[in-house]
Amino acid sequence: MTDEDREVQARARALADELIPHEVQAEMNGGRLAPEVERRHEERARELGFGAINMPKELGGGGFTSFQQVLVQEQIGRPTNALGWVVHTPASWLPKVASKHQLDTWVIPTIRGERGECYAITEEDAGSDVDAIRATAARDGEEYRLNGVKWHVTSFNRSDYVFFQAKLANGPHSGAHAMFIVDLDTPGIRVVRTPAYTHTYGHHHPVVAFEDVRIPAANLVGSEGDGMLFAYEWFRYERLMIAARALGAMERLIEEATAFARDRHAYGRPIFDNQAIQFMLAYSLTELWASRLMTYRTAQGIDEGVDVKVQHAQCSMAKLSASEAAGRVADRAVQIFGGRGYMRENVAERFYRELRVDRIWEGTSEIQRLIIADQLAKRGSRTLVG
Ligand SMILES: Cc1cc2nc3c(=O)[nH]c(=O)nc-3n(C[C@H](O)[C@H](O)[C@H](O)COP(=O)(O)OP(=O)(O)OC[C@H]3O[C@@H](n4cnc5c(N)ncnc54)[C@H](O)[C@@H]3O)c2cc1C
Repeated sequence: MTDEDREVQARARALADELIPHEVQAEMNGGRLAPEVERRHEERARELGFGAINMPKELGGGGFTSFQQVLVQEQIGRPTNALGWVVHTPASWLPKVASKHQLDTWVIPTIRGERGECYAITEEDAGSDVDAIRATAARDGEEYRLNGVKWHVTSFNRSDYVFFQAKLANGPHSGAHAMFIVDLDTPGIRVVRTPAYTHTYGHHHPVVAFEDVRIPAANLVGSEGDGMLFAYEWFRYERLMIAARALGAMERLIEEATAFARDRHAYGRPIFDNQAIQFMLAYSLTELWASRLMTYRTAQGIDEGVDVKVQHAQCSMAKLSASEAAGRVADRAVQIFGGRGYMRENVAERFYRELRVDRIWEGTSEIQRLIIADQLAKRGSRTLVG
């Protein structure tokens, strides 16, 4: 790490430390805090220089290296209830394909923190198999007409536009994927329902219907047929950042469980003195280190310009390793806390639930294994892991 990297890491840690005391209140209040507190946290993130850390400096973003982004995400993975999401990371793939109109209307205001986006790709019958989507986009003069029902649209309640992925219903690229930017106040967009999820986040994941939604042709991102390219780029980025946040969660769990084990007495001595407890913590720390090295190295490789297919496999390996390890670490932490670990006011209980989704979203663990195996077959292990 350079001095600058260390300074970025320390600044992010300070932000996370300010958020942690608000977790229990969020947990008991459907994930939300008082509006003025939420506003303050957003402002604080920006004051500390964490506005749009992944976006180019020339557009007003932070221009952080991939490695620095991982360091920040690792720290904001330490608070539960997604309180760390005050560090916004807009669509980093967008600036290089966005038109001037799109830059002015969505990209730059998002970097400034004035607008917010969500993603609508998944459908009831299309999750892992993205190509199975049924949503359509039909060109109609200078407009597209969008139809489809999207599931799990994260942050819909805190966004004002959505990236909508559909298959083209007509024209020369009929059947190909395309991505569109859609303002959420466009007529024809309807929340079907807002299911409750395992975690308690202030960000909801509703089912959203798009019924004859008419948007200007200028809202098409890139060209017709490009839709999957953007999705893959975003998946790659988010997989690495999920790995980073899982590292932060693991570190927090290990620290809290170790402190508890030293303090808690049973049979007249600290429970830490039992090898059964020590072994759980020792293995957790070992798993954290392994995933951390992998995640850091993957990010540094991206900064060094490693081949994009190798990046793809390495991001999958980092996510697979860190998310699976984090699940095990949380499970052990609950065990160490005993009955307290089953109470929602306890950090281990919250992470035990919250970390589960990291093995599902942005590609399940099974899909990560398929990606890794595919790259192994095509490129061989030395190309992928040295
Ligand atoms: C909280 C949450 C937030 C989300 N946010 C968003 C969002 O903002 N936008 C969005 O578009 N999507 C979002 N998603 C959707 C998420 O990306 C999908 O849930 C995920 O990709 C899995 O798809 P699925 O749920 O349809 O499962 P399925 O694809 O139906 O898979 C079910 C099971 O089958 C397994 N499986 C499938 N195919 C194979 C195979 N070939 N080999 C082996 N096993 C296989 C899977 O691994 C899984 O275990 C979110 C999901 C959740 C839970």
